[in-house]
Amino acid sequence: MTDRELFYRHLGLPSFTPMALDIVHAEGVWLTDRDGNRFLDLVSGISVSNIGHRHPMVLSAIDEQLDKYLYLNVYGEFIQSPQVKLAKRLTDLLPPSLDSVYFVNSGSEAIEGAMKLAKRYTGRQEIIAFKDAYHGSTQGALSILGNEMMKSAFRPLIPDIRHLKFNHFDDLDKITEKTACVVAETIQAEAGLILPEANFLQRLRERCAETGTLLVIDDVQMGFGRTGSLFSFEQYGFVPDVLVLAKALGAGMPLGAFIAPKQVMDSLAFNPELGHITTFGGHPVSCAAALAGIEVLLADGLLSEVEEKGRQFEEKVCKHPAIASYRRRGLAIGLDMVDHDKRQPFMEAALNHGIIIDWYLFKPATFRIAPPLTITKEEIEEACSRLIEVLDYVN
Ligand code: PMP
Repeated sequence: MTDRELFYRHLGLPSFTPMALDIVHAEGVWLTDRDGNRFLDLVSGISVSNIGHRHPMVLSAIDEQLDKYLYLNVYGEFIQSPQVKLAKRLTDLLPPSLDSVYFVNSGSEAIEGAMKLAKRYTGRQEIIAFKDAYHGSTQGALSILGNEMMKSAFRPLIPDIRHLKFNHFDDLDKITEKTACVVAETIQAEAGLILPEANFLQRLRERCAETGTLLVIDDVQMGFGRTGSLFSFEQYGFVPDVLVLAKALGAGMPLGAFIAPKQVMDSLAFNPELGHITTFGGHPVSCAAALAGIEVLLADGLLSEVEEKGRQFEEKVCKHPAIASYRRRGLAIGLDMVDHDKRQPFMEAALNHGIIIDWYLFKPATFRIAPPLTITKEEIEEACSRLIEVLDYVN
């Protein structure tokens, strides 16, 4: 059987219509399939490959760690140098209050940890999130996900969850002294890249402070330079109580984290002791890769180029007649197609033109452009001319 046949026969798949590209090599922004076709990656595995595929500094950090040890023991028992160095680097880059990092394996798991931390620390039960939010697929994360269609088959979920409308200032009054935490994205990605209105996040921050509610910011998709700053909340002038990271954090390796003030985080260590545990969280190879990934992101003015690169896409592609409207922040772009029925032909034509694009989960007629931030201006020119050919074709 070929890999393709095995894929369909033996892999549990979340959809019957996967892209099913058979990639044999990845480098920078380029993917190569078994037949030698090359594809420009405009999705980054949904904001994972922010520094491109197989960055040499990440590869050598992984190599170095491979020579020392792989897995040693459950998270938090042994002192593992890649973990503590990464925690130090992250906390040095964050506001002083965010000084304790709990490593896990994924975004969903980090959200689960943050939800448990908020309940344990505040002694409250209610959790608030926003309509159209995506926070992961495990049952806790699913409970706060703001899309009924994705949830209804899996009920009962966690009780005491309320959903507010994003950008609705009046709704913020529903946050009360009963609320353990509010979980929010700065930019609602899977809703089709919904940007926060001026002062909405600041007002949310204030309301949480007024009610003693922890503000948990999910920076899983918008973090690590996607919006032009290392963490997306930095652009909105407030500090969360808990920060959730994953995806690009591991620079291509699986890694998630929730970060909180030490005195808050410590509440997971008593009543009960071992209040949150993980076997593989903070895997040393993932942490070594992550540490190298951060250095790449911070080097050579990469972050300062994000806005200009985003604008290059905006000027070339977003005003095409097949596009009804669009939203952009840095190198995250959401484009709404005029004709909703063109989605499938558009996807197929994109692959035929050697570009990888994708849709936002809750907005089937809105596609994303979110390439590695390392994409060069020449590669953007190439991507745009291919995108325009595809848009012309479906228009
Ligand atoms: N939060 C956000 C904003 C996400 O985009 C995602 C993944 N798409 C998650 C959480 C869940 O991350 P994971 O798939 O690693 O569990």
